[in-house]
Amino acid sequence: MNKIKVISFDVEGTLATPAFSHALWHETIPALYASKKEIDIAQAEAAIFAEYGRIGKQQMAWYDIEHWFGFLQLGDPQPAIQSCLHKIKYYPEVEEVLASLSTQYKLCAASGMPLELLRLVLQDIKHYFTYIFSAPTHYKQLKSPAFYQGICAEMGVHPAQVAHTGDSWQFDFLNPGQAGIHAFYLDRQGKNQESLSDLRQLQQQL
Ligand SMILES: [Mg+2]
Repeated sequence: MNKIKVISFDVEGTLATPAFSHALWHETIPALYASKKEIDIAQAEAAIFAEYGRIGKQQMAWYDIEHWFGFLQLGDPQPAIQSCLHKIKYYPEVEEVLASLSTQYKLCAASGMPLELLRLVLQDIKHYFTYIFSAPTHYKQLKSPAFYQGICAEMGVHPAQVAHTGDSWQFDFLNPGQAGIHAFYLDRQGKNQESLSDLRQLQQQL
């Protein structure tokens, strides 16, 4: 693959662990809702998780923190976001792999998170990236084939000059593949023999 110029990464589940999002969406928001509605935490969790399920990951609203704080009438999301920042963590091999790949390639972060959260989650590693794209903020869509074609055009490269890796079969493997990008599916559980189980294996495939 000596024609590859850009290595693109999904962010959550790929570079950053889900701990920040878990704390925000599964702990902090239900706790705020419980205290606002004066109900117990189990009731709040049941109500909130039912709403998450109703919207689902195929809709933009799922990813939109402003939507949820508005819809649930929880006020300003910033204090909640700030209270979860200490949970941001990267997988163990991430810094070493990014440092190494960034000497040979331009690196890109391509995420389904809104930019306001994406910037925070990338806080300690953002200097490795030439490009940072939020599908909902910059392209008003999920990580569709059109999103991947759009970012290739913006980076001034042909899709065949890009490799993308991430932990969503649909959003990081099928969709970039459809756009003509070399896509690698990351399965950190290592259940799938065809997939990568960490990012060191990506380096070996390039
Ligand atoms: Mg992911």
